[in-house]
Amino acid sequence: MINTVLDCVIIGGGPAGLTAAIYLARYHLNVLVIDADCGRAATIPLSRNRAGFPEGISGVELLTRMRAQAEKYGATLRKNQVVQIEKQESFFSTRTAAGENVLSRTVLLATGVFNRRPRMPEALHDEAVARSLLRYCPICDAYEITDRRIAVVGTGDRGVNESVFLRSFTTDVTLISHEMGHDLTGQNVARLARRGIKIDSGPFECLGLFDDEIAVRTAAGNMVFAAVYPALGSDIHSELAASLGAERPDDGCVIVDRHQRTSFLGLYAAGDVVFGLDQMSHAMGQAGVAATAIRNDLEEQAALLR
Ligand SMILES: Cc1cc2nc3c(=O)[nH]c(=O)nc-3n(C[C@H](O)[C@H](O)[C@H](O)COP(=O)(O)OP(=O)(O)OC[C@H]3O[C@@H](n4cnc5c(N)ncnc54)[C@H](O)[C@@H]3O)c2cc1C
Repeated sequence: MINTVLDCVIIGGGPAGLTAAIYLARYHLNVLVIDADCGRAATIPLSRNRAGFPEGISGVELLTRMRAQAEKYGATLRKNQVVQIEKQESFFSTRTAAGENVLSRTVLLATGVFNRRPRMPEALHDEAVARSLLRYCPICDAYEITDRRIAVVGTGDRGVNESVFLRSFTTDVTLISHEMGHDLTGQNVARLARRGIKIDSGPFECLGLFDDEIAVRTAAGNMVFAAVYPALGSDIHSELAASLGAERPDDGCVIVDRHQRTSFLGLYAAGDVVFGLDQMSHAMGQAGVAATAIRNDLEEQAALLR
């Protein structure tokens, strides 16, 4: 139980939340990170585009190092799920699933997103991700499938855009519909055709995993690929921001100003939950900006009371 009013409660302990915790703790502010521990970073088998790690680093290892760094400077870390935030006069009250209430002057939302998954058993899905046979981040890891045979699961603009992006790494790209039949405009069919991207009407089914390939079945037959990229969209973890009335557009990402302030005074947001590149570098950059804005805004408020 924390009895004092904290300077900041950070909801989410991924790259964004932990970066902000390191900055805030090093600004001599008291900060608590509450993390449900089921974010995207924890599923990264080996990140090779995280600057400073030429041999790559796994998501789990990076998070372990970041937690140690945050704690070293005095941040408190808790594993739990936040279920509610309320504004009580000048403080936020954050409630966890365990029933704990924490008071703070500010809240930083760093809750990330959830990638919609193809239909397949959860254990098979998780093993395929851990073995890089199922991939969610072409920007991060398309380099590793250069000149190999890959599939994108999806349709419409999202499926086509991801296929076109991946086509610059390999000539062998197949766009497979998750359900039976595609939803493609004539323009999209032409974009795929110009690049020699194959179209398979689905429905997508994962048959199993080989050493370095993933087996797939559609109505057209069985195939193997070096990797499959689901392009089925994401669900944004922004419900807590919405419950306070903070602005978010139809896609669900929280709207922030250039200092990561949401439209609700005292509530800040950083990382994938905010519209952006959905990359660790971007999440960490936003978190550094958010933490500095929190520090400066708190200092400004304190000066007004002097
Ligand atoms: C398979 C895969 C590979 C990737 N590879 C790379 C890569 O190589 N390089 C790269 O830059 N990016 C990569 N990414 C993208 C990267 O993971 C994200 O951009 C990054 O993790 C975003 O950081 P974040 O802190 O915003 O969100 P997350 O890492 O998703 O962390 C959000 C945290 O908030 C917590 N949370 C959510 N709701 C609540 C709640 N209500 N209460 C408490 N806690 C909550 C979650 O449990 C989670 O721990 C990859 C993504 C995937 C899926």
